[in-house]
Amino acid sequence: MNYPVPTGMLEVPADRYSTHPVLNQAQPANGFNAFTGDTVLRAAIDREAPWAAGRCEALGALAGDEYVQDLARLSNRYTPELKTHDRFGNRIDWVEFHPSWHELMSLAWKHEVPNLAWRTNEKNGHFARAVLSYLWNQVEQGSACPTGMAYASHAGFEAEPALAIWAEKSKGTSYEFSRREVGDKPSVVIGYAMTEKQGGSDLRETQTTARYSHSDDYHGATAHWYELTGHKWFCSVPQSDGFFTLAKVNGDVTCFFLPRTLPDGSYNRFFVQRLKDKCGNKSNASSEVEYAGTLAIRVGEEGRGIREILSHSHLTRLDFAIGSAGLMRQSLTLALRHTTTRNAFGTTIADRPMMTNVLADLAVEVEASTLMALRVAKATDLMAASEHEKLLARVATPAAKFFNCSRAPSIAYEALQCHGGNGFIEENPMARLYREAPLNSVWEGTANMMCMDVRRAMMKDSGTIHALLDEVAPLAGQDTRFDALVQHAERLMRAAVGNEFLARPMTEVVARVLQGAELLRHSTQEVVDVFLNTRSPNGTGSWGSHYGTLAVTVSQPAAQKVVRRAMVTC
Ligand SMILES: Cc1cc2nc3c(=O)[nH]c(=O)nc-3n(C[C@H](O)[C@H](O)[C@H](O)COP(=O)(O)OP(=O)(O)OC[C@H]3O[C@@H](n4cnc5c(N)ncnc54)[C@H](O)[C@@H]3O)c2cc1C
Repeated sequence: MNYPVPTGMLEVPADRYSTHPVLNQAQPANGFNAFTGDTVLRAAIDREAPWAAGRCEALGALAGDEYVQDLARLSNRYTPELKTHDRFGNRIDWVEFHPSWHELMSLAWKHEVPNLAWRTNEKNGHFARAVLSYLWNQVEQGSACPTGMAYASHAGFEAEPALAIWAEKSKGTSYEFSRREVGDKPSVVIGYAMTEKQGGSDLRETQTTARYSHSDDYHGATAHWYELTGHKWFCSVPQSDGFFTLAKVNGDVTCFFLPRTLPDGSYNRFFVQRLKDKCGNKSNASSEVEYAGTLAIRVGEEGRGIREILSHSHLTRLDFAIGSAGLMRQSLTLALRHTTTRNAFGTTIADRPMMTNVLADLAVEVEASTLMALRVAKATDLMAASEHEKLLARVATPAAKFFNCSRAPSIAYEALQCHGGNGFIEENPMARLYREAPLNSVWEGTANMMCMDVRRAMMKDSGTIHALLDEVAPLAGQDTRFDALVQHAERLMRAAVGNEFLARPMTEVVARVLQGAELLRHSTQEVVDVFLNTRSPNGTGSWGSHYGTLAVTVSQPAAQKVVRRAMVTC
């Protein structure tokens, strides 16, 4: 769907209306390709999935496209509205969106953001899909919620024979905003509804109940239908075609799949109570819903619901780790464009020594987060064939989700600061990124839940700690600063297994080890030096508590090289 979007400046003759010439405004960050212009990302695809380069290039162009950037602005300004009833008084529980939202969703699906990993037979499909998600998160983050959930849902569909039709449809690339029976749809949008009022982290406290209704043939397989009664306090993308959800059967939490349209074409009883008025993520609808005799298909065995639904969360957590890295990358790109195209005190702002310090510090953090998330994606590709990769994926996924999602707000803040007052104004995408940045650390498991999960993995299987140490063993002796970081991590891991109080610092240092290892493998000496001089235990004293406090051990010329590496070339 196309509609006219005003772009560019109105041509007002300067002599008639203006009191002054407009001078020294920074150039907008457009006209670039977020893939081909990004040294780190291009090299990553060349290494692991060169077959996907064309797709990445096509998507990367959207991030720098002025028209698409305006779609992102419009979809966040003209926010979704709930329509509970039609004009005749029938309940419809539907959501209305600005056309820009649907155009973004169509682009995401067309570019395989939700499902490349499931559609391709090429090697490292999850890695390539992670790069697409990284790029999409530089286009518009609200729609990254449905793309991430659709990605994770496919694994759930494949594991449940009754949902084979959904597995097939979830590979579609043609987005359709409609409420039709799954068999009639070219693709599907999927939500996850778990969180209830009394608590989201502790899903054992689920209040919603389910009662067996009947079993019948569903698109060629037997489905066991239950009637659900209860509520969900958070349910994003309520206009989805179906939802994975939880309810108790005889007191035991069980996983269900709830189609919004039933096999006879009628609407399921799915009552959207209201939409959440959110701090960010404005383009995307999030809601409160109630179930009353709502029909849903059981997934897996009764009583194994939490285990079942958490088995998908490996993929959503990977997606948030990569998504937050993408948001950080976009923040950095905006900061670089602004500071290199605006002058202060006689030079570009980027060339002022203090700003070089800030930009280099941000650039190192973004590269480290990006490479760590991509390493998790690679482990996801390899985990079926390798015990090492399986154990690594198990522990590195929550660690990367914790670290990157917790890191994003401070990066967005500092990038906003680089813009001065203009960064705080809604016309600049920076303001939107700032409001969006904290969200990924909340949903799909909060920061503390991620650290709890890292510790749980280590407690259950001591092989997990060994997998982390094996991962970095080939780098031993290459850099004493890195060796010190690994030793520090090993001590903390062993201590945290016996002491929950240490779970958070331990997870942080695990993430730093993974980042350091990836930087040693794939980055430049200047980036490695900044990272290890400031982020390893024996770098203490040369980094403050804010970005831009690289000191003593980092020279200005080295920082300038780091900044040049991070520039997105046009
Ligand atoms: C915009 C938005 C959209 C959302 N969309 C969805 C959705 O589509 N589907 C869905 O199911 N949910 C959704 N959520 C809900 C989200 O997943 C939950 O908010 C999250 O899981 C946390 O649950 P809670 O809010 O109940 O917080 P709580 O569980 O009450 O936690 C509050 C704080 O306590 C901490 N905490 C809890 N237990 C412990 C512990 N044992 N040790 C240390 N700290 C602890 C947590 O880490 C957190 O910091 C959404 C949330 C938001 C903000």
